[in-house]
Amino acid sequence: MQYEPELCHSCGSGLAGAVEVGREQRQVFDLPELALEVTEHQLIARRWPD
Ligand SMILES: [Zn+2]
Repeated sequence: MQYEPELCHSCGSGLAGAVEVGREQRQVFDLPELALEVTEHQLIARRWPD
């Protein structure tokens, strides 16, 4: 993303086409949304009848 001023802060004239005199860069890091994942495990007991 790039953001630019449209107007001069001093005189208010448009800045389209004016010389670029500076640029700052910053990065924003976002984590993807977390989602729960459920896995059911079943341990079955068996025996022969007495
Ligand atoms: Zn100006």
